[in-house]
Amino acid sequence: SVLGEHGVEGVPHKMSPEEEEALLSEEDALSARPVQIVVAHEDDHAFELDEAALERILLQEHVRNLNVVVVSVAGAFRKGKSFLLDFMLRFMYNQTSCSWLGGHEEPLTGFTWRGGCERETTGILAWSEVFVVDKPDGSKVAVLLIDTQGAFDSQSTIKDCATLFALSTMTSSVQLFTEYGRLALEEIYEKPFQTLMFLIRDWSYPYEHSYGLEGGKSFLEKRLQVKQNQHEELQNVRKHIHSCFSNIGCFLLPHPGLKVATNPNFDGRLTDIDDDFKTELVNLVPILLSPENLVEKEIGGSKVTCRDLVQYFKAYMKIYQGEELPHPKSMLQATAEANNLAAVAGAKDIYNKGMEQVCGGDKPYMAPDQLECGHANLRQVAVKHFRSVKKMGGEDFCRCYQEQLEAELDEAFTNFIKHNDGKNIFYAARTPATLFAVMFA
Ligand code: GDP
Ligand code: MG
Repeated sequence: SVLGEHGVEGVPHKMSPEEEEALLSEEDALSARPVQIVVAHEDDHAFELDEAALERILLQEHVRNLNVVVVSVAGAFRKGKSFLLDFMLRFMYNQTSCSWLGGHEEPLTGFTWRGGCERETTGILAWSEVFVVDKPDGSKVAVLLIDTQGAFDSQSTIKDCATLFALSTMTSSVQLFTEYGRLALEEIYEKPFQTLMFLIRDWSYPYEHSYGLEGGKSFLEKRLQVKQNQHEELQNVRKHIHSCFSNIGCFLLPHPGLKVATNPNFDGRLTDIDDDFKTELVNLVPILLSPENLVEKEIGGSKVTCRDLVQYFKAYMKIYQGEELPHPKSMLQATAEANNLAAVAGAKDIYNKGMEQVCGGDKPYMAPDQLECGHANLRQVAVKHFRSVKKMGGEDFCRCYQEQLEAELDEAFTNFIKHNDGKNIFYAARTPATLFAVMFA
C-alpha cells in the first residue's frame, strides 16, 4: 500500500496486515463516501448486487433495527443528480444550522460529479453513512441516500432501466416503473410506491408556472391530463400513475447559471451559482429531508427496517438475474417472499430477546417445566406477531412461512434447553455421589 511504504518522515516502514486493516477500518469510520451497491456490467447487461457492501451499510448496529427512509435520486446521466445529492448531504450534516447550504467559496463534495460528457457507470450508489434522525413524534429513523444512474441511450436495454428503476423508489422514467406497479396493483391493492417527485431542471417559464412546489403542482396536473389524441400507452401511464404512488409531486428548479452548466472548472461553490437556483434549493431540500417530512419506506403496508431492506434488495436482484425482463408476477412473488422472510426474522427476534430475559446466560438454572412455560408463551407471542404483520402472498403462502417460523422456534428452544441444563449443577454432576457431595458441602 502507498501508506505502508512511506513511513513517518520518509522512513520506510512496511505495515503489518493487522496495522493495515486497523488503518482501513479507521478510514472506513471516518470518511463517508458513495458506495456502489448495484453494478451494471455493460458487456452482458448483467446486474450484480454487492451484498457485502450493502450489508456493511445497512446492518450497522446503530441503524439496523430502525425504520428506513430511502431517498433516491434517479435519472439519466448528467442530469445533475450528484450535484443535487451533494447539497442534500450538506443538509443532512448541518441540519440544525440555517446556513446549511455552505460557505460561498466551498467546493462541493460527496457523490462525485463533474463536468464534461463522458459516460459514468450505470448502477446504484448509496452514501455509506446512514443518518439517524429524530422525528417530531419522538421516533428515530434511518435515512439512506441513493443515487440511481440509468442510461437511456442506445448502449443500454430496456431491461437495464427497468431493473434500476424498479430497485429505486423515485424515478424520472415514469413509464416502465408505473407499468410494473400497475400490474402488481391488480393483485395486491396496495400502492406499491410512496412518493414520486418530478424534478424539472432548467425551468424557464416561471411566468406560466412559478418555481418550486406550487408551480410544479399546476404544471404536473396539466401534464397528467389524459387527452383523446394521445397515444394509448401515454394515456395509460397518465391514468395509472396516481394509483401507483401515494404522493406525487413536482418541483420546478430554475437554471443554475452558465458557470454550473458550462464551465469545466466549476467546482460547485455557491458564488458560481445563480441566486434564484439557491433560493429554490433552500426550499426543495427540506421538503425532502427535514425530520417532519421524512417518509419511512413501506412495503405491502408495513414499515421497513434497514435490516428488512437488505432482504428486499436481495430478493429483487435475484429475479433480475434471468435473461428476460421479469414478469411483474415474479416481482410480486419476490416481494411477498422477502416480506414473509422479514416477518419471520422479526418474530424470531422477539422470541430470542424474550427467552434471553427468561433464561439468558446471566440467569440461573430454571426448572424444565417453567422453561417450557416461558417458551410456550413467547412462541405464542412471536407467532402472533408474525400473523399481525401485514404480509403479501395470500394465506396459504404465509402459512408456509409460519410453519417455517414455528419449526425454527422449536429448534431454538432445544438450544435453550441445552443451555439451561448446562447450568444445572445436579445435572452437570451426574453421579449420585458427587450430587450428594455438592448438596452437603
Ligand atoms: P449526474 O450524472 O446526473 O450525477 O450529473 P452531475 O451532478 O454530475 O452533473 C452533470 C453536469 O450538470 C455538471 O457539469 C453540473 O455542473 C451540471 N448541472 C448540475 N445541475 C444542473 C442543472 O440544474 N442544470 C444544468 N443545466 N446543469 C446542471
Ligand atoms: Mg452522478
